Amino acid sequence: MKKPIIIGNWKMNPESLEKAEKLALDIENGIKNTQNVEVVICPPFVYFSELRTQNLRLKVGAQNCHFENKGAYTGEISPSMLKNLGIDYVILGHSERRQHFGETDSLISKKIKAVINVELTPILCLGETSEQRKNGQTENIIKKQLEICLSQASYSKLRTPNLIVAYEPVWAIGTGNVCKPEGALKIIKMVRDWIFNKFSKEIGDKVRILYGGSVDSKNVSGFLDKKGIDGFLVGGASLDSGEFLEIIKKVKD
Ligand code: PEP
Repeated sequence: MKKPIIIGNWKMNPESLEKAEKLALDIENGIKNTQNVEVVICPPFVYFSELRTQNLRLKVGAQNCHFENKGAYTGEISPSMLKNLGIDYVILGHSERRQHFGETDSLISKKIKAVINVELTPILCLGETSEQRKNGQTENIIKKQLEICLSQASYSKLRTPNLIVAYEPVWAIGTGNVCKPEGALKIIKMVRDWIFNKFSKEIGDKVRILYGGSVDSKNVSGFLDKKGIDGFLVGGASLDSGEFLEIIKKVKD
């Protein structure tokens, strides 16, 4: 069985390094004796160096990166910079990047390729809007996102680093409207089948597919009864160490 993974997306929080260190250390202390679950935090870039020097058991991921490794791209951070800093994961295609920064599936596909090339693990976010859901387009939208976002990821490159996919319905992110576990599982199964067909059974088996969207310590149990969900991408609830640790505890038990 795959080890479940829980990823905390801190977004543009907290406001100071002190608070970031405290949050990371509280989580670290809470998971010290936890073996059977992988825990990742994705803080803002500016806190990476400090958090990396603390030798945490927690893994650290980025919330975004550019598709080139260096060059004249003011304000950007490259995949090789992250790799050289000891970062393990990069969230790509988060709906907030799509919505507020105009990221398209084809831009995301370039980023996925660049991240895989330096052997970082991409966490590819997919999800439909509430409008698309109302129009019965969910499955087609997710398939289209997979098709374009993974169009430049070659089979041979995907063998080395793991790929993580997070199904995050846009209408569920930060709204408290969590998706029904059966609904999430249906999409997750579809994504796994798509990956089987596109790449191989080996990659389809290895890829971890997560649910994200208003997960908290109360609703997480509903997802745990469903086999096939490999973990969670958690936004708001990952900023409260007590709440985040409670989610981890439920997943581990
Ligand atoms: C997210 O930002 O990826 C997310 C799932 O946020 P929230 O848990 O707050 O809905």
